[in-house]
Amino acid sequence: MTIQRKTIVLEKVLEILQHTQNAISVSQLMDKLETIGIRPNKTTLYRLLEKLVSTTDALSITLKNGISYYELRQKRPHHHHFYCTKCDTVFCLGSCHVHTQKIDLTQLLPSPKFTVEAHDFNLYGVCESCR
Ligand SMILES: [Zn+2]
Ligand SMILES: [Zn+2]
Ligand SMILES: [Zn+2]
Repeated sequence: MTIQRKTIVLEKVLEILQHTQNAISVSQLMDKLETIGIRPNKTTLYRLLEKLVSTTDALSITLKNGISYYELRQKRPHHHHFYCTKCDTVFCLGSCHVHTQKIDLTQLLPSPKFTVEAHDFNLYGVCESCR
């Protein structure tokens, strides 16, 4: 792929990530690119996304199904996700209950000498349109 072509793919990927409500997988991103006539190969796209993650522009969420979903970091503060097991959509949830309800996670730790630096929380189920 030429450099110019790569730049176009990157621009479109960023545009899609900017306008998507949810976190999206490589295949979902490929479908969206295809509707605007861009067909990059999967490896190229995967590398591009991993690069965005390494520069902290994007974050990836890996779910129980082993698939990684991506979203732009700047779009929202820390939040959790709901995964629909029927349509494979990853919904970004509003706010983190650990923060809003000021839940003290240190109570869960085996010893008060442990410190928590981050947490993940994913919900799995069926979304409204798949019910
Ligand atoms: Zn669904
Ligand atoms: Zn999200
Ligand atoms: Zn949280």
